[in-house]
Amino acid sequence: MPPIYDKPTVEKYDYVLIGGGSGGSASSRRAALYGKKVAVVEADPYLGGTCVNVGCVPKKIMWHAADLQDKIAHHASGYKFKGIEAPKFDWAAFKPQRDAYIRKLNGIYATNFDKEGVEYHHGYGRLTSANTVEVTRPDGKGTYTLNTDKICITVGGAPTIPSDDEIPGASLGIDSDGFFDLADQPKRVAVIGAGYIAVELAGIFNTLGSETHLIIRGETVLRTFDPTLQETLTPWMEKTGVNIHKSSHVVKVEGVKGQTLTVHTDKGEKIEVDTVLWAIGRHPLTKDLGLEKVGVKTDKHGNIIVDEYQNTNIPNVYAIGDVQGKALLTPVAIAAGRRLSNRLFGPEKFRNDKLDYNNIATVVFSHPTIGTVGLTEPEARAQYGDSVKIYKSSFRALYFSMIEEEHKEPTVYKLICVGPEERVVGVHIIGIGSDEVMQGFAVAVKMNGQSILDQHLPS
Ligand code: FAD
Ligand code: NDP
Repeated sequence: MPPIYDKPTVEKYDYVLIGGGSGGSASSRRAALYGKKVAVVEADPYLGGTCVNVGCVPKKIMWHAADLQDKIAHHASGYKFKGIEAPKFDWAAFKPQRDAYIRKLNGIYATNFDKEGVEYHHGYGRLTSANTVEVTRPDGKGTYTLNTDKICITVGGAPTIPSDDEIPGASLGIDSDGFFDLADQPKRVAVIGAGYIAVELAGIFNTLGSETHLIIRGETVLRTFDPTLQETLTPWMEKTGVNIHKSSHVVKVEGVKGQTLTVHTDKGEKIEVDTVLWAIGRHPLTKDLGLEKVGVKTDKHGNIIVDEYQNTNIPNVYAIGDVQGKALLTPVAIAAGRRLSNRLFGPEKFRNDKLDYNNIATVVFSHPTIGTVGLTEPEARAQYGDSVKIYKSSFRALYFSMIEEEHKEPTVYKLICVGPEERVVGVHIIGIGSDEVMQGFAVAVKMNGQSILDQHLPS
């Protein structure tokens, strides 16, 4: 077992990070690679942060399960496979297997820290000055202080749920963390929200056979995405069985947790379900971090304000990842963390290293998947006016040629170009394989502006 530290091992560290998730792990390991004395303080007993424990990884595993269900139930017969007409996903049997895999990943994170000389301190971290982090050991076993040259805050965020004052009964619902705790599949579920998590989790529930209600404030899902994606995915989700309650606000939730819950909307609807899941955004975990004491500035949502180099307003205190409120994505937290360590501890050539937050590609694990990078059409028109040219192609992928009409998924590819040279400033795609296809487009769009060599190692 790799060691877990519960006191300082040196008078002064070079770098202490609060948070051992995507950003904290990447930045600490890169700093250690440069020979620095590094400690990571992590409150959760399981290393890896949101992505590993209650985010990308278990979500993608559930997406794969749903994708398989779809293929077996709706596609295989078209390809003349026999004997698999009524597949039944066994959620209760699958969950422990999924959890065991996540535990394995937690162990790999700990081993990597040990191999690379990063000290893993299990406890709650809090700034007491610009050069000291107080660690509260778990189970009330006291505190100790780590003295350090530099501190990086990388505590991530948590799902937001309205208070019971705002929406009576809201606390009867769960959030995305609770999704991963579900021991069994709910027969009926209401998901509230219209962003990444709402779309992905409603898609998983629906595909795996739960009666799924999606309650959205607007007329489409993914309202910040290109309109073509919104207009393609929303009706397809409805066609595949998701009951989308549009222009609706939840006003009350009633019932008993674990039994029937009734969701009341401002349109007078009463939706009876077993599980209510809030997916209305996330907030940074900056409340009890000692930021006020040290004078680290946050915005009105609690996100730590940083400049383009991840510097906070306090010298030698930095913030990366979800806690700074921009592009809440794992590869972003990792890239920002590595580049920060390159700049702080690496050779001279990295003195100005920083992450470019423009043209960050992203994928939504809907059914079918979405890939997107760069400007949406409205953004491009606002920025470039009449010089915008759109190329759009809708088609059925060959895969669906053998499959019944009602299960043929849509595919739409859209390029946003500007100027006489028709430079591509946005790519928005939906359809089978878009998650993988986007990788190539992302590189191309990014390279238009700058080199994409992010993964450079110290030489
Ligand atoms: P985190 O990974 O959240 O790590 C922060 C760590 O800090 C946590 O381990 C926490 O326990 C610890 N911590 C907090 N406070 C303290 C404290 N005071 N002391 C000590 N430790 C503390 N992104 C993608 O790119 N692709 C996806 O497919 C994707 N899917 C997602 C699905 C879901 C359901 C969710 C919720 C998120 C998903 N994300 C996805 C987003 C991704 O998980 C985050 O952007 C990423 O984890 C952010 O990394 P981070 O290091 O900033 O924070
Ligand atoms: P998002 O910010 O993506 O979406 C939340 C949506 O919920 C809003 O866009 C809004 O849509 C709606 N909403 C907000 N407040 C309310 C409210 N009070 N009542 C009802 N609806 C509301 O947040 P998520 O929680 O979905 O995800 C958080 C972040 O995690 C994402 O932004 C993403 O960066 C990351 N993530 C990435 C994934 C990936 O890469 N595949 C997957 C999952 C998460 P509207 O205005 O239309 O009502």
